[in-house]
Amino acid sequence: TAAEVSVSGLTVLYSTDQGELPAVSRASVDLPTGKITGLVGESGSGKSTLALSMMNAVPAPGRISEGSIEVNGVGDVTKLEGKALRRVRGGALGYVFQASQNSLNPLKTIGKQLLDLGRAHDVKDLRELVHRAKELADRMGLDGDRVLDSYQHELSGGMRQRVGIVLALVLNAKVLVLDEPTTALDMLSQSAVLDIVRTVHRERGLTTLVVTHDMGVVSELADRLVVMYGGRIVEDGPTTELLQHPAHPYTRALITATARITGDTATARALPGRPPDLTTVPRTGCVFRERCALAMDVCAETEPELLAWAPDRRRACHAEPTGAEA
Ligand code: ATP
Ligand code: MG
Repeated sequence: TAAEVSVSGLTVLYSTDQGELPAVSRASVDLPTGKITGLVGESGSGKSTLALSMMNAVPAPGRISEGSIEVNGVGDVTKLEGKALRRVRGGALGYVFQASQNSLNPLKTIGKQLLDLGRAHDVKDLRELVHRAKELADRMGLDGDRVLDSYQHELSGGMRQRVGIVLALVLNAKVLVLDEPTTALDMLSQSAVLDIVRTVHRERGLTTLVVTHDMGVVSELADRLVVMYGGRIVEDGPTTELLQHPAHPYTRALITATARITGDTATARALPGRPPDLTTVPRTGCVFRERCALAMDVCAETEPELLAWAPDRRRACHAEPTGAEA
């Protein structure tokens, strides 16, 4: 299958009190055209940083220090700047920010922000744009007229998430990136938002990336899963195979910790230990070794490479496959 987005050898650095440190290290991954890819991992694993890189939107003084991100029909977004970059953001690439990054402007109505978006992208027919936004909003169970007249504080969390999706899609994006689309929503709004994502993805033939720390969310939504830990991609593959036969100890631990997948609250165990941040992640060897039950001497010395071990499956681990996954 063709890749709509191709990330190669991406390294992203942030400045810390210990100097510049990588939040993402040499990450290579493709988003296959027309598929939903789920990017999972605990808090701090570098998911948002990888996703933001796709819009070349890593906040300064953070920076992409290595690698490329080829987007079909756009080129390498890491090389874009100025007007060309603004055209891609919200244009070919629709992006719904993680709530904490707050992309909505509290001082302007949603409708005003929609017009700003249209002007920034040289949309000639703004009335048509408003019409399309209302239609999208209505389809998402929102009252389009009311929402466009509202300020963000007048909307509930679930409504805001849906407004974010409307604004991300109104300019006919081909690639949709959703960062934690359901975090902070109650279960009912969660499943409503996921239904909308599924439907719009299918209807528009999008290539979609869903970023979440919740394995349960993407296990039902995504065609493929990409697992991150400590700024590294440690495993990826088709969702069903990866869930049935996880090949990295971290993926296994994540699955065990997710009651919704194991179907058993009693056996769902929290992952022991805490995820590392930029300053505490091991700088040599395997990033997961300090929490890994299978850790061996080599894991402290050599970083395992992300390698194919079966068709369409990759993992970064020195341990022998246990047999359960083969
Ligand atoms: P979460 O589930 O909390 O959203 P995440 O997987 O999206 O986590 P990132 O937000 O990409 O993780 O952060 C990766 C690492 O980079 C974390 O250790 C985080 O503390 C650090 N980090 C994120 N943004 C910055 C920044 N602007 N400056 C410095 N460090 C940062
Ligand atoms: Mg994040």
